[in-house]
Amino acid sequence: MEDYTLLCPQMAPIHFALFDVTFAWRGHNVVVLSEVDRNAIEDGLRYVNNDACYPAIVVCGQLIQALKSGKYDLNRTGVLISQTCGGCRSTNYRALLDLALRRAGFSNVKVLPFNVNVVKSGGTASLAGRFDVDLAFVRKMLVTVLYGDLLLLLSNRCRPYEVIAGSTDALTSVWLGKLREIILQDKRYSISKCMNDIVADFEKLELDVSVRKPKVGVVGEILVKYHPDANRNLVTTIEREGGEAVVPGILDFMLYCLSSDQHKKPYADVSFFAGLKSKLAIWIIEKYRDKIRYAMRNSKRFEPPKQFHHLVEKARKVISTCNQTGEGWLLTGEMVELIEDGCPNIVCVQPFGCLPNHITGKGVFKELRSKYPIANITTIDYDAGTTEVNQLNRIKLMMSVAQKNIKEK
Ligand code: SF4
Repeated sequence: MEDYTLLCPQMAPIHFALFDVTFAWRGHNVVVLSEVDRNAIEDGLRYVNNDACYPAIVVCGQLIQALKSGKYDLNRTGVLISQTCGGCRSTNYRALLDLALRRAGFSNVKVLPFNVNVVKSGGTASLAGRFDVDLAFVRKMLVTVLYGDLLLLLSNRCRPYEVIAGSTDALTSVWLGKLREIILQDKRYSISKCMNDIVADFEKLELDVSVRKPKVGVVGEILVKYHPDANRNLVTTIEREGGEAVVPGILDFMLYCLSSDQHKKPYADVSFFAGLKSKLAIWIIEKYRDKIRYAMRNSKRFEPPKQFHHLVEKARKVISTCNQTGEGWLLTGEMVELIEDGCPNIVCVQPFGCLPNHITGKGVFKELRSKYPIANITTIDYDAGTTEVNQLNRIKLMMSVAQKNIKEK
Protein backbone atom coordinates (compact mmCIF):
# COMPACT_ATOMS: atom_id res chain seq x y z
CA MET A 1 0.00 0.00 0.00
CA GLU A 2 2.99 2.27 -0.38
CA ASP A 3 1.30 4.10 -3.24
CA TYR A 4 -1.59 5.05 -0.94
CA THR A 5 -1.01 7.78 1.64
CA LEU A 6 -2.75 7.83 5.01
CA LEU A 7 -2.75 11.16 6.83
CA CYS A 8 -2.69 10.91 10.60
CA PRO A 9 -3.41 13.87 12.91
CA GLN A 10 -0.83 14.79 15.52
CA MET A 11 -1.42 14.07 19.20
CA ALA A 12 1.79 13.49 21.15
CA PRO A 13 4.93 14.71 19.36
CA ILE A 14 7.43 12.23 20.87
CA HIS A 15 5.29 9.13 20.32
CA PHE A 16 3.97 10.21 16.94
CA ALA A 17 7.50 10.90 15.70
CA LEU A 18 7.85 7.10 15.68
CA PHE A 19 4.43 6.02 14.44
CA ASP A 20 5.01 6.60 10.73
CA VAL A 21 7.95 4.15 10.70
CA THR A 22 5.89 1.62 12.65
CA PHE A 23 3.34 1.73 9.83
CA ALA A 24 6.12 1.83 7.22
CA TRP A 25 7.45 -1.44 8.67
CA ARG A 26 4.17 -2.97 7.46
CA GLY A 27 4.43 -1.25 4.08
CA HIS A 28 1.96 1.55 4.80
CA ASN A 29 2.73 5.11 3.89
CA VAL A 30 1.46 7.08 6.88
CA VAL A 31 2.18 10.78 7.16
CA VAL A 32 1.88 12.18 10.69
CA LEU A 33 0.94 15.84 10.42
CA SER A 34 3.35 17.93 12.37
CA GLU A 35 1.66 20.85 14.02
CA VAL A 36 -1.64 22.66 14.41
CA ASP A 37 -1.68 26.37 13.69
CA ARG A 38 -4.48 28.92 14.00
CA ASN A 39 -5.51 28.37 10.35
CA ALA A 40 -6.06 24.66 11.00
CA ILE A 41 -8.31 25.48 13.95
CA GLU A 42 -10.22 27.98 11.77
CA ASP A 43 -10.71 25.19 9.19
CA GLY A 44 -11.98 22.93 11.98
CA LEU A 45 -14.47 25.58 13.07
CA ARG A 46 -15.57 26.14 9.48
CA TYR A 47 -16.41 22.50 8.72
CA VAL A 48 -17.34 21.05 12.14
CA ASN A 49 -20.24 22.37 14.16
CA ASN A 50 -18.88 24.51 16.98
CA ASP A 51 -20.64 22.47 19.67
CA ALA A 52 -18.31 19.55 18.91
CA CYS A 53 -15.47 18.82 21.33
CA TYR A 54 -12.34 20.92 20.88
CA PRO A 55 -10.21 17.84 19.98
CA ALA A 56 -12.59 17.07 17.08
CA ILE A 57 -12.17 20.63 15.80
CA VAL A 58 -8.37 20.42 16.12
CA VAL A 59 -8.14 17.00 14.44
CA CYS A 60 -10.57 17.73 11.58
CA GLY A 61 -9.04 21.15 10.99
CA GLN A 62 -5.54 19.76 10.78
CA LEU A 63 -6.56 17.05 8.30
CA ILE A 64 -8.54 19.44 6.09
CA GLN A 65 -5.66 21.91 6.05
CA ALA A 66 -3.31 19.12 4.90
CA LEU A 67 -5.73 18.00 2.17
CA LYS A 68 -6.08 21.59 0.97
CA SER A 69 -2.30 22.01 0.79
CA GLY A 70 -2.10 20.34 -2.64
CA LYS A 71 0.74 18.08 -1.47
CA TYR A 72 -1.28 14.88 -1.75
CA ASP A 73 -2.94 13.02 -4.63
CA LEU A 74 -6.52 13.06 -3.37
CA ASN A 75 -7.40 9.86 -5.26
CA ARG A 76 -4.71 7.97 -3.39
CA THR A 77 -5.03 9.57 0.04
CA GLY A 78 -7.03 8.52 3.09
CA VAL A 79 -7.11 9.71 6.68
CA LEU A 80 -6.47 7.62 9.75
CA ILE A 81 -8.36 8.46 12.90
CA SER A 82 -8.25 6.83 16.31
CA GLN A 83 -11.43 6.00 18.21
CA THR A 84 -11.89 4.87 21.80
CA CYS A 85 -15.16 2.98 21.12
CA GLY A 86 -16.54 4.01 24.49
CA GLY A 87 -19.64 6.00 25.33
CA CYS A 88 -17.87 9.29 24.67
CA ARG A 89 -18.24 11.64 21.75
CA SER A 90 -14.79 10.64 20.50
CA THR A 91 -16.39 7.46 19.19
CA ASN A 92 -18.29 9.68 16.75
CA TYR A 93 -15.31 11.63 15.47
CA ARG A 94 -15.40 9.48 12.36
CA ALA A 95 -18.91 10.65 11.50
CA LEU A 96 -17.92 14.27 12.20
CA LEU A 97 -14.86 13.90 10.01
CA ASP A 98 -16.83 12.27 7.17
CA LEU A 99 -19.23 15.21 7.20
CA ALA A 100 -16.45 17.80 7.46
CA LEU A 101 -14.63 16.23 4.49
CA ARG A 102 -17.80 16.28 2.40
CA ARG A 103 -18.43 19.92 3.29
CA ALA A 104 -14.85 20.82 2.40
CA GLY A 105 -15.15 19.09 -0.98
CA PHE A 106 -13.08 16.00 -0.18
CA SER A 107 -15.83 13.37 -0.31
CA ASN A 108 -13.57 10.95 -2.22
CA VAL A 109 -11.08 10.83 0.69
CA LYS A 110 -11.64 7.67 2.80
CA VAL A 111 -11.68 7.77 6.59
CA LEU A 112 -10.07 4.74 8.21
CA PRO A 113 -10.84 4.39 11.91
CA PHE A 114 -8.20 2.78 14.13
CA ASN A 115 -9.80 1.60 17.33
CA VAL A 116 -9.50 -0.82 20.19
CA ASN A 117 -11.91 -3.28 18.51
CA VAL A 118 -9.55 -3.58 15.58
CA VAL A 119 -6.74 -4.34 18.02
CA LYS A 120 -8.90 -6.69 20.14
CA SER A 121 -9.85 -8.69 17.05
CA GLY A 122 -6.39 -10.20 17.39
CA GLY A 123 -6.07 -11.77 13.96
CA THR A 124 -6.13 -9.82 10.78
CA ALA A 125 -8.62 -7.01 10.48
CA SER A 126 -8.80 -5.29 7.17
CA LEU A 127 -9.88 -1.67 7.08
CA ALA A 128 -11.46 -0.82 3.76
CA GLY A 129 -8.99 -3.19 2.14
CA ARG A 130 -6.25 -0.63 2.65
CA PHE A 131 -4.81 -1.48 5.97
CA ASP A 132 -4.12 -4.65 7.93
CA VAL A 133 -3.72 -5.06 11.65
CA ASP A 134 -2.37 -8.34 13.01
CA LEU A 135 -0.64 -9.41 16.21
CA ALA A 136 2.86 -8.66 14.92
CA PHE A 137 1.77 -5.13 14.10
CA VAL A 138 0.02 -4.70 17.47
CA ARG A 139 3.22 -5.82 19.19
CA LYS A 140 5.25 -3.36 17.14
CA MET A 141 2.82 -0.60 18.01
CA LEU A 142 3.04 -1.48 21.71
CA VAL A 143 6.84 -1.30 21.68
CA THR A 144 6.66 2.07 19.89
CA VAL A 145 4.34 3.42 22.61
CA LEU A 146 6.78 2.14 25.25
CA TYR A 147 9.70 3.93 23.58
CA GLY A 148 7.59 7.09 23.45
CA ASP A 149 6.59 6.82 27.11
CA LEU A 150 10.20 6.23 28.12
CA LEU A 151 11.51 9.26 26.22
CA LEU A 152 8.66 11.40 27.56
CA LEU A 153 9.44 10.42 31.15
CA LEU A 154 13.21 10.89 30.84
CA SER A 155 13.08 14.19 28.96
CA ASN A 156 10.54 15.78 31.33
CA ARG A 157 12.65 14.69 34.31
CA CYS A 158 15.92 16.12 32.92
CA ARG A 159 14.95 19.29 31.00
CA PRO A 160 14.22 21.56 34.00
CA TYR A 161 17.66 20.84 35.49
CA GLU A 162 19.87 20.70 32.39
CA VAL A 163 23.15 22.58 32.66
CA ILE A 164 23.51 23.00 28.90
CA ALA A 165 20.32 24.56 27.55
CA GLY A 166 18.71 22.36 24.91
CA SER A 167 20.80 19.26 25.73
CA THR A 168 17.76 17.18 26.80
CA ASP A 169 15.78 17.89 23.65
CA ALA A 170 18.89 17.27 21.54
CA LEU A 171 19.39 13.85 23.16
CA THR A 172 15.70 13.05 22.71
CA SER A 173 16.00 13.89 18.99
CA VAL A 174 19.09 11.71 18.64
CA TRP A 175 17.24 8.76 20.16
CA LEU A 176 14.14 9.37 18.07
CA GLY A 177 16.36 9.15 14.99
CA LYS A 178 17.99 5.92 16.20
CA LEU A 179 14.66 4.39 17.18
CA ARG A 180 13.20 5.09 13.75
CA GLU A 181 15.93 2.89 12.25
CA ILE A 182 15.58 0.23 14.94
CA ILE A 183 11.81 -0.02 14.50
CA LEU A 184 12.26 -0.61 10.79
CA GLN A 185 14.95 -3.28 11.39
CA ASP A 186 12.65 -5.48 13.53
CA LYS A 187 15.21 -7.15 15.80
CA ARG A 188 13.45 -8.63 18.81
CA TYR A 189 16.48 -8.63 21.09
CA SER A 190 17.01 -4.92 20.65
CA ILE A 191 14.07 -3.77 22.82
CA SER A 192 15.72 -4.32 26.22
CA LYS A 193 19.12 -3.22 24.97
CA CYS A 194 17.66 -0.08 23.49
CA MET A 195 15.86 0.82 26.68
CA ASN A 196 19.01 0.24 28.75
CA ASP A 197 21.03 2.40 26.36
CA ILE A 198 18.44 5.19 26.37
CA VAL A 199 18.33 5.31 30.18
CA ALA A 200 22.14 5.17 30.35
CA ASP A 201 22.44 8.15 27.99
CA PHE A 202 19.97 10.23 29.97
CA GLU A 203 21.81 9.30 33.18
CA LYS A 204 24.89 10.93 31.68
CA LEU A 205 23.19 14.26 30.96
CA GLU A 206 24.70 17.02 33.04
CA LEU A 207 22.08 18.31 35.47
CA ASP A 208 22.07 20.87 38.26
CA VAL A 209 19.79 19.55 40.98
CA SER A 210 20.97 21.95 43.69
CA VAL A 211 17.66 23.85 43.48
CA ARG A 212 14.59 21.78 44.26
CA LYS A 213 11.78 22.47 41.83
CA PRO A 214 8.14 21.60 42.52
CA LYS A 215 6.82 18.68 40.50
CA VAL A 216 3.61 19.43 38.63
CA GLY A 217 1.47 16.57 37.33
CA VAL A 218 -0.39 16.99 34.04
CA VAL A 219 -3.57 14.91 33.71
CA GLY A 220 -6.71 15.17 31.64
CA GLU A 221 -8.25 14.58 28.25
CA ILE A 222 -5.76 12.72 26.08
CA LEU A 223 -5.37 15.22 23.23
CA VAL A 224 -5.01 18.38 25.30
CA LYS A 225 -2.81 16.51 27.77
CA TYR A 226 -0.15 15.56 25.21
CA HIS A 227 -0.55 17.95 22.30
CA PRO A 228 1.51 21.13 22.90
CA ASP A 229 -0.37 23.06 20.21
CA ALA A 230 -3.72 22.16 21.82
CA ASN A 231 -2.61 22.96 25.39
CA ARG A 232 -0.58 26.06 24.50
CA ASN A 233 2.73 24.44 25.42
CA LEU A 234 1.71 23.56 28.95
CA VAL A 235 4.92 21.66 29.79
CA THR A 236 7.06 24.59 28.60
CA THR A 237 4.93 26.98 30.66
CA ILE A 238 5.33 24.85 33.80
CA GLU A 239 9.10 24.74 33.27
CA ARG A 240 9.29 28.48 32.59
CA GLU A 241 7.46 29.06 35.87
CA GLY A 242 10.11 27.04 37.73
CA GLY A 243 8.46 23.61 37.92
CA GLU A 244 9.11 20.08 36.68
CA ALA A 245 6.26 18.59 34.64
CA VAL A 246 5.27 14.99 35.32
CA VAL A 247 3.17 13.66 32.45
CA PRO A 248 1.94 10.05 32.85
CA GLY A 249 2.51 7.86 29.78
CA ILE A 250 0.09 6.93 27.02
CA LEU A 251 0.29 3.20 27.76
CA ASP A 252 -1.89 3.61 30.86
CA PHE A 253 -4.63 5.09 28.67
CA MET A 254 -4.44 2.02 26.42
CA LEU A 255 -4.61 -0.30 29.44
CA TYR A 256 -7.53 1.74 30.79
CA CYS A 257 -9.43 1.06 27.54
CA LEU A 258 -8.44 -2.62 27.57
CA SER A 259 -9.47 -3.13 31.20
CA SER A 260 -13.05 -1.89 30.81
CA ASP A 261 -14.58 -5.40 30.59
CA GLN A 262 -13.01 -6.40 33.92
CA HIS A 263 -14.60 -3.49 35.78
CA LYS A 264 -17.99 -3.91 34.15
CA LYS A 265 -18.18 -7.65 34.72
CA PRO A 266 -19.82 -7.64 38.21
CA TYR A 267 -22.59 -5.32 37.00
CA ALA A 268 -23.15 -6.00 33.32
CA ASP A 269 -23.50 -8.86 30.92
CA VAL A 270 -19.82 -9.41 30.22
CA SER A 271 -18.69 -12.93 29.42
CA PHE A 272 -16.11 -14.75 31.54
CA PHE A 273 -13.80 -14.94 28.54
CA ALA A 274 -14.00 -11.20 27.85
CA GLY A 275 -12.81 -10.50 31.41
CA LEU A 276 -10.10 -13.15 31.10
CA LYS A 277 -8.91 -11.81 27.73
CA SER A 278 -8.64 -8.33 29.18
CA LYS A 279 -6.60 -9.60 32.18
CA LEU A 280 -4.31 -11.64 29.95
CA ALA A 281 -3.71 -8.74 27.54
CA ILE A 282 -2.79 -6.40 30.40
CA TRP A 283 -0.50 -9.01 31.96
CA ILE A 284 1.36 -9.45 28.65
CA ILE A 285 1.66 -5.70 28.10
CA GLU A 286 3.01 -5.21 31.63
CA LYS A 287 5.68 -7.83 30.86
CA TYR A 288 6.83 -5.58 28.03
CA ARG A 289 6.73 -2.52 30.32
CA ASP A 290 8.95 -4.44 32.77
CA LYS A 291 11.76 -3.71 30.31
CA ILE A 292 11.52 -0.02 31.24
CA ARG A 293 11.43 -0.89 34.95
CA TYR A 294 14.48 -3.11 34.50
CA ALA A 295 16.37 -0.39 32.62
CA MET A 296 15.75 1.99 35.56
CA ARG A 297 16.39 -0.54 38.33
CA ASN A 298 19.57 1.12 39.60
CA SER A 299 18.71 4.70 38.76
CA LYS A 300 18.67 7.40 41.40
CA ARG A 301 17.51 9.94 38.86
CA PHE A 302 14.46 8.24 37.39
CA GLU A 303 11.36 6.69 38.92
CA PRO A 304 10.08 3.63 36.97
CA PRO A 305 6.39 3.53 36.01
CA LYS A 306 4.09 1.68 38.42
CA GLN A 307 2.07 -1.43 37.58
CA PHE A 308 -1.36 -0.70 36.14
CA HIS A 309 -3.21 -2.42 39.01
CA HIS A 310 -1.79 0.22 41.41
CA LEU A 311 -3.58 2.87 39.37
CA VAL A 312 -6.85 0.92 39.59
CA GLU A 313 -6.50 0.67 43.39
CA LYS A 314 -5.75 4.40 43.69
CA ALA A 315 -8.80 5.34 41.64
CA ARG A 316 -11.04 3.06 43.73
CA LYS A 317 -10.19 5.11 46.84
CA VAL A 318 -12.26 7.93 45.36
CA ILE A 319 -14.45 6.73 42.51
CA SER A 320 -15.96 3.61 40.95
CA THR A 321 -13.96 2.14 38.08
CA CYS A 322 -17.24 1.80 36.22
CA ASN A 323 -16.72 5.46 35.23
CA GLN A 324 -15.47 4.61 31.77
CA THR A 325 -16.51 7.51 29.58
CA GLY A 326 -13.83 9.85 28.34
CA GLU A 327 -10.70 9.38 30.49
CA GLY A 328 -13.05 8.17 33.26
CA TRP A 329 -11.55 6.68 36.41
CA LEU A 330 -8.04 6.88 34.90
CA LEU A 331 -8.09 10.63 35.42
CA THR A 332 -8.90 10.26 39.12
CA GLY A 333 -6.45 7.37 39.53
CA GLU A 334 -3.59 9.39 38.03
CA MET A 335 -4.31 12.31 40.38
CA VAL A 336 -4.33 10.07 43.48
CA GLU A 337 -1.15 8.34 42.35
CA LEU A 338 0.62 11.66 41.71
CA ILE A 339 -0.37 13.06 45.12
CA GLU A 340 0.62 9.90 46.99
CA ASP A 341 3.94 9.76 45.11
CA GLY A 342 4.95 13.26 46.26
CA CYS A 343 3.56 15.35 43.42
CA PRO A 344 0.64 17.22 45.03
CA ASN A 345 0.62 19.99 42.39
CA ILE A 346 -1.62 19.04 39.48
CA VAL A 347 -2.95 20.71 36.36
CA CYS A 348 -6.08 18.95 35.14
CA VAL A 349 -6.75 19.85 31.51
CA GLN A 350 -9.85 19.29 29.46
CA PRO A 351 -11.65 20.73 26.47
CA PHE A 352 -14.38 23.20 27.36
CA GLY A 353 -17.67 21.33 27.84
CA CYS A 354 -16.04 17.90 28.21
CA LEU A 355 -18.66 16.44 30.52
CA PRO A 356 -17.12 13.03 31.37
CA ASN A 357 -13.80 14.53 32.38
CA HIS A 358 -15.50 17.25 34.41
CA ILE A 359 -17.08 14.48 36.49
CA THR A 360 -13.96 12.39 37.04
CA GLY A 361 -11.61 15.41 37.05
CA LYS A 362 -13.03 18.60 38.52
CA GLY A 363 -15.88 16.61 40.12
CA VAL A 364 -13.51 14.78 42.49
CA PHE A 365 -11.41 17.80 43.55
CA LYS A 366 -13.41 18.30 46.76
CA GLU A 367 -12.91 14.69 47.80
CA LEU A 368 -9.22 14.79 46.86
CA ARG A 369 -8.66 17.99 48.87
CA SER A 370 -10.36 16.51 51.92
CA LYS A 371 -8.39 13.24 51.68
CA TYR A 372 -5.10 14.98 50.82
CA PRO A 373 -5.01 18.54 52.26
CA ILE A 374 -1.63 19.08 50.56
CA ALA A 375 -3.27 18.73 47.11
CA ASN A 376 -2.74 21.87 45.03
CA ILE A 377 -4.92 21.26 41.98
CA THR A 378 -6.04 23.58 39.25
CA THR A 379 -8.23 22.92 36.24
CA ILE A 380 -7.84 24.49 32.82
CA ASP A 381 -10.37 24.37 30.00
CA TYR A 382 -9.18 24.59 26.40
CA ASP A 383 -11.28 25.79 23.52
CA ALA A 384 -10.77 27.54 20.19
CA GLY A 385 -11.97 30.79 21.77
CA THR A 386 -10.47 30.78 25.30
CA THR A 387 -7.90 33.45 26.07
CA GLU A 388 -4.40 32.47 27.09
CA VAL A 389 -4.34 35.03 29.92
CA ASN A 390 -6.86 33.13 32.05
CA GLN A 391 -5.04 29.86 31.56
CA LEU A 392 -1.69 31.41 32.37
CA ASN A 393 -3.03 33.08 35.51
CA ARG A 394 -4.32 29.76 36.82
CA ILE A 395 -0.95 28.10 36.22
CA LYS A 396 0.90 31.00 37.89
CA LEU A 397 -1.39 30.83 40.93
CA MET A 398 -0.91 27.07 41.27
CA MET A 399 2.86 27.50 40.85
CA SER A 400 3.08 30.19 43.53
CA VAL A 401 1.38 27.83 46.03
CA ALA A 402 3.68 25.01 44.92
CA GLN A 403 6.80 27.20 45.39
CA LYS A 404 5.57 28.33 48.81
CA ASN A 405 4.92 24.71 49.90
CA ILE A 406 8.34 23.56 48.78
CA LYS A 407 10.07 26.41 50.65
CA GLU A 408 8.14 25.65 53.83
CA LYS A 409 9.18 22.00 53.53
S1 SF4 B 1 -13.45 13.00 26.47
FE1 SF4 B 1 -14.35 15.01 26.43
S2 SF4 B 1 -13.36 16.03 24.73
FE2 SF4 B 1 -13.00 13.85 24.47
S3 SF4 B 1 -14.67 13.20 23.15
FE3 SF4 B 1 -15.33 12.88 25.25
S4 SF4 B 1 -16.48 14.76 25.75
FE4 SF4 B 1 -15.26 15.19 23.95
